[in-house]
Amino acid sequence: MPCSTLDGMVIDLHTHSSVSDGTDTPTELITTAAESGLSVVALTDHDTTAGWAEAAAALPDGLSLVRGAELSCESPNGLGGVVTVHLLAYLFDPDAPVIVAEQSRLRAERRERLHKMAKRMAADGYPVDADDLLASLPADSPAGRPHLAMALVQAGVVESVDEAFRVFLNSRGRFMVSRRDTPVHTAIQMIADAGGVTVLAHAFARHRGPTLTADVIKELAAAGLSGLEVDHPDHTPSARAELAELAGDLRLVKTGSSDYHGTNKTIRIGQESTSPEALAELVARTSGVVPVLHGKVMSSG
Ligand SMILES: [Zn+2]
Ligand SMILES: [Zn+2]
Repeated sequence: MPCSTLDGMVIDLHTHSSVSDGTDTPTELITTAAESGLSVVALTDHDTTAGWAEAAAALPDGLSLVRGAELSCESPNGLGGVVTVHLLAYLFDPDAPVIVAEQSRLRAERRERLHKMAKRMAADGYPVDADDLLASLPADSPAGRPHLAMALVQAGVVESVDEAFRVFLNSRGRFMVSRRDTPVHTAIQMIADAGGVTVLAHAFARHRGPTLTADVIKELAAAGLSGLEVDHPDHTPSARAELAELAGDLRLVKTGSSDYHGTNKTIRIGQESTSPEALAELVARTSGVVPVLHGKVMSSG
């Protein structure tokens, strides 16, 4: 349900464009956000800032843009193992050398991994061509399983991206190739060094797979994490309550966001939202290198 705040501002801090695995171009995403009555939208494509310029250019009156990215990271799970977590990074300088180097390492690794997965499927007789698949993706875009899923839909192997994940591409499937992500502590420091802030995304979306313990979140807060995404479509009411309490205890900013992916998922933009106070607190914790961009006329001061 849309949770408009008292003064009518709707702030959605987690969306994906076609620059990663969403279906809207950055321009379309900005238009959708404006038409849906949002006041502030964050563009947080997976491991890339390639959509920032286009989104900024499309910004209409009354809409503000928080430039961000969603970083896949490796984290201790608190039980002696390792888990993948998603870290929302906001308002950092994408040209900081530490960021540039890590982004390009990850992109290369992702392409190689997708190539391996497609080759495994082709070896089993599925009509996918690993080289063609990679050639069809822009060189600077992060390659991910959704791209292989869409190729499987196009080849008529499955009817939907969801079915491709369920049948072939889930993390326990035999075509899966694992990857090396940035350690989450490194990522938190890297984004802070580049002037930005970090928020742990959908930390307790337990049906998605293994998650981390509250103790690990405590460590991340000590390492400089700024916020927790509390309201997320994949969080149950009890997960939201646990995270809200943890955020209160650790003095972390509580955010809410849709994780909009266009028509790849059924969630509407602005379906979950963040309060203006929470956004202001996040902005206050940046070093101001990359400002929030405002459309010409602000809808609210
Ligand atoms: Zn995510
Ligand atoms: Zn996301």
